[in-house]
Amino acid sequence: MRTGRIAVIGAGIAGLVATIDLARAGFAVSLLERAGAPGGKMREVEVAGKQLDAGPTVFTLRDVFEQLYADAGTSLASHLNLLPVKILARHAWNDSEHLDLHADLAESAAAIGAFAGAGEARGFLAFAARAERIYRTLNTSFMRAARPNPIELSRRIGFSNIADLFNIQPFTNMYESISRYFADPRLRQLFARYATYCGSSPFHSPATLMLIAHVEQAGVWTIEGGMHRLAQSLAQLAARLGADLRYGTQVSRVELANGRVAAVETASGERLAVDALVCNADNNALATGLFGEAARAGVRATAPAERSLSALTWNLVARTEGFPLAHHSVFFGDDYQSEFDDVFRRGRLPVRPTVYVCAQDRGDAAVPPRGAERLLCLVNAPPIGDTHQFTTAEIQQCERNTFERLERCGLRVLRDPQATCVTTPSDFNRLFPATGGALYGPASHGWRSSFTRPGSRSRIPGLYLAGGSTHPGPGVPMAALSGRLAAASLRADYGSIA
Ligand SMILES: Cc1cc2nc3c(=O)[nH]c(=O)nc-3n(C[C@H](O)[C@H](O)[C@H](O)COP(=O)(O)OP(=O)(O)OC[C@H]3O[C@@H](n4cnc5c(N)ncnc54)[C@H](O)[C@@H]3O)c2cc1C
Repeated sequence: MRTGRIAVIGAGIAGLVATIDLARAGFAVSLLERAGAPGGKMREVEVAGKQLDAGPTVFTLRDVFEQLYADAGTSLASHLNLLPVKILARHAWNDSEHLDLHADLAESAAAIGAFAGAGEARGFLAFAARAERIYRTLNTSFMRAARPNPIELSRRIGFSNIADLFNIQPFTNMYESISRYFADPRLRQLFARYATYCGSSPFHSPATLMLIAHVEQAGVWTIEGGMHRLAQSLAQLAARLGADLRYGTQVSRVELANGRVAAVETASGERLAVDALVCNADNNALATGLFGEAARAGVRATAPAERSLSALTWNLVARTEGFPLAHHSVFFGDDYQSEFDDVFRRGRLPVRPTVYVCAQDRGDAAVPPRGAERLLCLVNAPPIGDTHQFTTAEIQQCERNTFERLERCGLRVLRDPQATCVTTPSDFNRLFPATGGALYGPASHGWRSSFTRPGSRSRIPGLYLAGGSTHPGPGVPMAALSGRLAAASLRADYGSIA
């Protein structure tokens, strides 16, 4: 007998979003989260008595969330205060070569012209136009729709728009394609870095990922109070719609009856009979048996070689000197290819890392905060946290390389070990089991990768998938879209009971 009872495993962005859509459709949803708070990767850490974002910091595609809140009968703006950033990111190669990208396209073109010459500024405008075209081609045909196969995608784009299909460049490597727009190696590096937004190497990703540049150009916001507020707000909305949110509740087994989902069991031994289940844990957790043997068949396992980037991060409260940090700043390593070879081929922490710094107390105003400020510093790392625990010596060496890189670009961070929280690939693997610390599901390497990510229906009836390891992929708005797709598939299969 159908009871309308649904369990959602995981209160990451996709799990929260699926819960909201299902609760408002009238299902009795229990959201079971092993951590003590919502958000998953959008988590906060406390350092020196202050709360810091330890996960995503670049908030894009706000319309995805506006639509979600509107569909739930409310508005994003009545829950969160979003502030548009004028400087998308400040980039540095050394203490004299600095370049800002702006929310305003013409301002960016002017800055690039002054930095690298008029030809590069023209290249940038052509690149931005191409990135926008790819985005427009794939926005409704791929990102906001159920996962297509290549033929289905061609049909959705329309065979009459075959030029658009060609323009998404699935068969060209991103770095090569970017090199056609920019002669300056610094600009190639800057725009190639967008591949890392989905945990991939620009040397192995399809040029299609250039669309991420357009996503940023279309708007980046900060959230007053920090990114984690978004997760809290989603959790509050889900609770208001009647969902039962349980933190500190680890699901240990998925039970099947007659080949379909029948119940979930928690680590404390509680059994919840359900009609269907949305799994927001990484798909590899299902595929490697963390939810029991029966559920393994739900989805294909990701081989370690297919994993996306992990990270080594430092959340710190520290005074800084020199370089005028923007909210988002990037300090480039001097050999980009070797950085990705270190991470993906040699399985070691990068010797010449590119460092991302989020100065969480800084907005567009040029006035630096007084005294110590909240920082997240991040370098790419190999996703091997399940098989290799980096030694203290390895971490300290990477830390030296990282902060020396900042100093070479003119930034001194006056660190206090008491006010620093380090997160390694092994830590990420503990937080997000069966990932090896990979933060973005499988890497988007090769043209097939977008089509091999599972869609929202698993191979087991009643088991739906949502999150960064599911179509349409990683990143906060993409994970939200996958949550919406999972809820929509479940509703379509079940029939809304509202
Ligand atoms: C350091 C960092 C920086 C990032 N920067 C950005 C950025 O700037 N912009 C951006 O858009 N994206 C960024 N991302 C990526 C983005 O955060 C993720 O793609 C997105 O948040 C993933 O959401 P998800 O729905 O896949 O859930 P996840 O965040 O993966 O959450 C899954 C949840 O499932 C829970 N869970 C797992 N197993 C169980 C179990 N057995 N029982 C109960 N619960 C379970 C976990 O505890 C977790 O809460 C970043 C990620 C990281 C880590």
